Amino acid sequence: MPIRLLPPALVNQIAAGEVVERPASVAKELIENALDAGARRIVIRIEGGGREVLEVSDDGGGIARGELALALAAHATSKIAVSDDLNRIHTFGFRGEALSAIAAVAHVTVTSCLSGTTQAWSIESRFGEVSDPMPAAGGGGTRIEVRGLFANVPARRHFLRSDSAEAARVTEVVSNAALANPSVAFRLESGARKVLDLAAAGDPIGRVDDVLGESLGAEPLTVIGEASNDDGTCAMITGSICRPVSMRSVSRTQRIFVNGRPITDRSLMHAVREAYRGLAEPSLQPVFVIFLQVDPSLVDVNVHPQKSEVRWRNAQWMHRLVFRSVQDALRLADLTADGAGLLATPSTHAREQRTHTREVVATTPSAITGRSVSPVSSWAPSSLDEPDRLLIAPPVRAHEVLQIDSTWIVFAEDGALVIVDQHALHERVMFEEIRARIAVDDLMSQQLLVPATADVPPEALARLEDLAPLFARLGIDVVAAGPRSIAVHAFPGFLTGRGVDAAEFVARALTNEQLASACESSEPAALRESALADVLDMMACKAAIKGGDKISPDEIARLLAARSETERSTNCPHGRPTSVRIPIAEIEKRFGRR
Ligand code: ADP
Ligand code: MG
Repeated sequence: MPIRLLPPALVNQIAAGEVVERPASVAKELIENALDAGARRIVIRIEGGGREVLEVSDDGGGIARGELALALAAHATSKIAVSDDLNRIHTFGFRGEALSAIAAVAHVTVTSCLSGTTQAWSIESRFGEVSDPMPAAGGGGTRIEVRGLFANVPARRHFLRSDSAEAARVTEVVSNAALANPSVAFRLESGARKVLDLAAAGDPIGRVDDVLGESLGAEPLTVIGEASNDDGTCAMITGSICRPVSMRSVSRTQRIFVNGRPITDRSLMHAVREAYRGLAEPSLQPVFVIFLQVDPSLVDVNVHPQKSEVRWRNAQWMHRLVFRSVQDALRLADLTADGAGLLATPSTHAREQRTHTREVVATTPSAITGRSVSPVSSWAPSSLDEPDRLLIAPPVRAHEVLQIDSTWIVFAEDGALVIVDQHALHERVMFEEIRARIAVDDLMSQQLLVPATADVPPEALARLEDLAPLFARLGIDVVAAGPRSIAVHAFPGFLTGRGVDAAEFVARALTNEQLASACESSEPAALRESALADVLDMMACKAAIKGGDKISPDEIARLLAARSETERSTNCPHGRPTSVRIPIAEIEKRFGRR
């Protein structure tokens, strides 16, 4: 074939492929145009998942009759004029290619009434052939109707999914736009069904509640935080997150916005999930919407129309901001699991609430079990090197507390019966204590007289180098002793004291699946956070008293005192609850007293 210039219609069709992939991408472009035009209310209507009809109406500034045809032309935009404008873009669009691309692959009608005028005008484009403007009915604003998307590009049409799958993607686009623009009213209709109908909301959090409704679960928590750099640049975070009890195994809404744009960012997603670590089973997913407002110099927003990824000037700094802010929101909430399946008293400052632990009233009759408090053992709840360190609060008086089956501790608190899993709680206490300790210094280790050795698979041995600094912080001195074996020379004393086999412990850490996947993660901050928490989990678990261990009333008292002084004491490091609270009112109900 000889070389020739492509006809404009074909050029547009090829360009369309980059902008218009499916109905959802058309919706995104049209909504962004409406927002750029200053709309206060946007209505989206689709039929057949958007491939038959996709219509976006707005009450924005409108388009002049004489410019209707230009709006559909390639590289025609009202948003930039000279090259310098590219450096101060504050609109969504600026390339002037969306409408022309859509018009190349569909039948498009633009009806608009320029603000300040009374007559609306309409033009039609059939796969790029544009009609003259005709007078039309309609008030202020613009309506763009797209029919028969990809009718002239069968390959594209075949690539589309079912109507409901396409409609779902359109819904996601609309809900993202609604989340990012709370002051604009949005409505989405799919066929005869009203999918979204959102009045203008006063603030982003109110909009999140409207859009997500039930899926955030009861009493969602508000995230708020900020961080700044020496050069004056700063980042702010607001958002709404679910309580750990509302986490589910299927991942639902998890969204992050940067300066009003939804982004996908694995590292920040990880930061949010990591903040939930230890508050629920690891397989469960949180529901969250996070808004980041950052200094433009801190982020490179990739300007390709379809890409939602950004590049951070300092990804670790952002990770930390998100992680800390979400963690704080969770920390300030009272997350004690409720035995009756209801939520515990919501949003009271956790510390204020927990102080009541120390004023337990003796209302728990020992007749519940018929068992008496178990005899004293030699175990001391604080097993690090300062046995009394946990004794910060005056202990609960032991006679008000019961140990059942050498496993459960039962007492009354704040009008509820509380059942504590002694192993889970002690595991959390140990976890936080070790973590606090290594924030200050390496853990104390004990030199082993004879190095302890164990066999490990070569791929696990390969992780040793990455993990050596981490092990050193944790008081573990371990080296490779051959192609498939390790030798542990030093190990924390409190673990040896609990009869933990040093070599076996390290071998298990090296073959731990979560640790292995953390090592493969490319984000160094992520690796450090998760790997550390994983090994801490293992240590705390080994060091903690077990279910079935008999402990003295004094030890129980100390453990319960630690409960009120320990962060996240409502859940063990694996996320299982440490305690369950059954409101007395619930008990009364079961006895038919209410
Ligand atoms: P861009 O948004 O990049 O400028 P588009 O092809 O999306 O390019 O739109 C071309 C032009 O059409 C815009 O610059 C704007 O002037 C006009 N336009 C499109 N949609 C609307 C709308 N809903 N209201 C007002 N003007 C619009
Ligand atoms: Mg545009």
